[in-house]
Amino acid sequence: MPLRDDSARSSLQTLADRGLAVYCGGGRGGYVALTFDDGPGRYTARVLAILRRARARATFFVVGDRVRYWPGLVRAEVDQAAVGNHTWDHARLPGFGGRATYAEIARTQSAVVAATGVRPLLFRPPYGATSDSARRIARALGLNVVLWSVDSGDSLPRATADSVVRTVIPRLRPGAIVLLHDIHPAGVAALPRILRALHRRGLRAVTVPELVALDPPAHAQLFAVRSSGRC
Ligand code: ZN
Repeated sequence: MPLRDDSARSSLQTLADRGLAVYCGGGRGGYVALTFDDGPGRYTARVLAILRRARARATFFVVGDRVRYWPGLVRAEVDQAAVGNHTWDHARLPGFGGRATYAEIARTQSAVVAATGVRPLLFRPPYGATSDSARRIARALGLNVVLWSVDSGDSLPRATADSVVRTVIPRLRPGAIVLLHDIHPAGVAALPRILRALHRRGLRAVTVPELVALDPPAHAQLFAVRSSGRC
């Protein structure tokens, strides 16, 4: 059952107030968060259709300058899933000054609000590469930094559906946050098999806000993850 927005929002707000990045849930529930970065794009509608058929939910980290070309897809993502901010043009933020970093993040917030009326609560820095100013600005804008615990490898040059399946399925455990992309075909082709594997194991695909509310990472775990970078 999707959570009421205010419940998910308050769990996220607690983490955002502490300025802690989320890599995974607590691992004590039967939930996994699939995330799709870099869209919207040519495979987004297919991803949404596959998710809908499986009654699965997910999170899309969108690139701001793509939102204006596919505002209808972003509205569909908001209806069916959750939407997060992935900068305006997929910037590598370390090395950017504060003003440029602010523009990357704030412009994307505005683009999503213009397309959907919904303000994103989540931020994923491209390449997982963050900076002090990015963390500070994300926090000031009420955004939670969300990274991942499983990289599907779907953006690698020789990725195939089989390689993605081999990478992801053995790592599907409660609380996992899985990195995929809705602009690369390999992960999209692997998605039905990933969803069937989740179903077989009794795991449910939820959005990141739902994961954080249903299976919150423990405070100590967040600090341990911050130093190790792993769940
Ligand atoms: Zn990306």
